[in-house]
Amino acid sequence: MTTAYRIVLLGPPGAGKGTQAARLAERLGIPHISTGDMMRAAADRGGELGEQVRSYLEAGHLVPDALIVDVVRDRLGAPDCAHGYLLDGFPRTLPQAEALDRLLQELGTELTHTLELRVPLDLLTARLIRRGREQGRADDDEAVIAERMKVYERQTRPVSDHYARTDRLAVVDGVGTIEEIGERIRERLGA
Ligand code: AMP
Repeated sequence: MTTAYRIVLLGPPGAGKGTQAARLAERLGIPHISTGDMMRAAADRGGELGEQVRSYLEAGHLVPDALIVDVVRDRLGAPDCAHGYLLDGFPRTLPQAEALDRLLQELGTELTHTLELRVPLDLLTARLIRRGREQGRADDDEAVIAERMKVYERQTRPVSDHYARTDRLAVVDGVGTIEEIGERIRERLGA
């Protein structure tokens, strides 16, 4: 029987969560659940909901908790999540973290690892500006980046505190090459 990994990867915008999450999920053979990717796909599909989501994305604001929690509940209930998953970009607020705790309790499971990638602010901003140029992401424009950092401090920092308080947080230094950071994460997981 192989170990099931139910992982949450936390960290500010630009910390390299998406890159590390994709690599790690592939290595562990578990689904990579990126709520950011799911929201961008919803915005691209359009329709009333898509347009609503798009307005949040373009402002650098979080979409409402109720919406995102419903999306995650559906996704975690899918058969491919029965043997683990990696959550990237969720939870982003304290109510989301509490909703996830309740959801896992209902499912009779627990997270196995909560990791936070830590990177100094000036480095984050530089990385995001570069990504905006390379990938053409509308929310990587400089004014929107500043707003996303504020949102992170105000709404997402309490999520790290929530896991730290309950002794579930492992902080990983997010400065270095993709390989180096990946190695630090794998060490923490014993993977
Ligand atoms: P990301 O790619 O994770 O930086 O997410 C991009 C955008 O998607 C965020 O700025 C939010 O507008 C939205 N989003 C992603 N995940 C969440 C979440 N857990 N709660 C609320 N909004 C989210």
